[in-house]
Amino acid sequence: MSIEKIWAKGVTRRDFIKLCSAAAAALGLSETMVPKFVSAAEKAAKKPPVIWLEGQDCAGCTESFASNLNPGTAEILLDTISLRYHETLMAGTGDVAEHALEQTMEEGNYILVVEGSIPTVDDRFCVIGGKPFRETLLKTAEKAAAIIAFGTCSAYGGINAAAPTKSVGVQSIVKDKPVINLPGCPGKPSRLVATLLYYLSTGNLPQMDKYNRPLAFYGKLHHDNCPRRGHFEAGHFLTDWNDPKQVDWCLLLVGCKGPKTYTDCPQVWWNDGASYCVNAGSPCSGCTQPEYYAGFAPLYVKQENFMMPGVAGINADTVGKVLGGATAVGLGAHLAGSVAAGRLSKNKRSHNEPLTLKEEKEAVSVKNKSANNQREIAKDHTLKGKGGRD
Ligand code: SF4
Ligand code: SF4
Repeated sequence: MSIEKIWAKGVTRRDFIKLCSAAAAALGLSETMVPKFVSAAEKAAKKPPVIWLEGQDCAGCTESFASNLNPGTAEILLDTISLRYHETLMAGTGDVAEHALEQTMEEGNYILVVEGSIPTVDDRFCVIGGKPFRETLLKTAEKAAAIIAFGTCSAYGGINAAAPTKSVGVQSIVKDKPVINLPGCPGKPSRLVATLLYYLSTGNLPQMDKYNRPLAFYGKLHHDNCPRRGHFEAGHFLTDWNDPKQVDWCLLLVGCKGPKTYTDCPQVWWNDGASYCVNAGSPCSGCTQPEYYAGFAPLYVKQENFMMPGVAGINADTVGKVLGGATAVGLGAHLAGSVAAGRLSKNKRSHNEPLTLKEEKEAVSVKNKSANNQREIAKDHTLKGKGGRD
């Protein structure tokens, strides 16, 4: 709804400013922010409308988006887009909210962002405002200019695909329009912001892979860019989180799905470059992949039944033997290649064995390279935050 329409409905500018004051207070901001809110809201009224629907979700993707720092959520919501409907963030409820949705749908040409999956067993598993979510999604998709599935649930079903609801992602329901998938559990805000800005500034969809993920965020294999990769090559696999010696070692044997996961996580860390799963000591659970969750569970356990294509005569059993005879862990073709090349077997060591000087140097160099990357990213973010955004 434009500002003019708000005035036409009998809401005075004074009321509107009061509303902005209340919003500033609710956010814990000072009165000096109110004129900025008013002017931003007026500008936002001319910005592309966005409808954000939530199906079967935990609102984690909304939480994640709302925690973005550069640019901040308020900046995105007020300066960049006009968010017309969002069940978690909007102040309106009930009929008023539903009316805002219908009105925006009537106008058409909006960006539809979807969070959460859609049950296929029975529509009654997800009913919002008295209507099955599947129907609302199909209807909202009709006049959408672009559709973005934010988070793994809306992209491929995610965790809910493993539930008795047999849930699926948006592209399995909306089949007559392209869907930009931005998987991640939760969705990463930097990917959503960049996709929105790209679409708004070019009017085009980004270049995508076969799973409809933008190549810019999902074009590289985690394992190839991992800060722990030096230890993988040296055959240092963490088996005990309590052993200080193993703190930086490769997490493959504790369930890492990095060798099968395409993501920008090693390059673009979470929370404005603060850290990310593998850096913090948690194996990558492959949350950006269509296989996630059921295909990768249990997440923190090396996988006995991971399908591994045979490479150079190497099969899962052989890999298991090479890695200590313990098991055939979850490996992709690349790892089998490493085994074939003798890298893993040659360097396999007990975790009690100290690193050689050369290995120490290798590990430090990989770590420093990664830290430098993060500093560059952080510097870039800071510049952008200071008005250097292009
Ligand atoms: S298996 Fe995981 S922790 Fe090890 S190098 Fe690959 S991505 Fe990194
Ligand atoms: S490191 Fe892996 S599990 Fe963690 S957010 Fe990135 S893709 Fe998901």
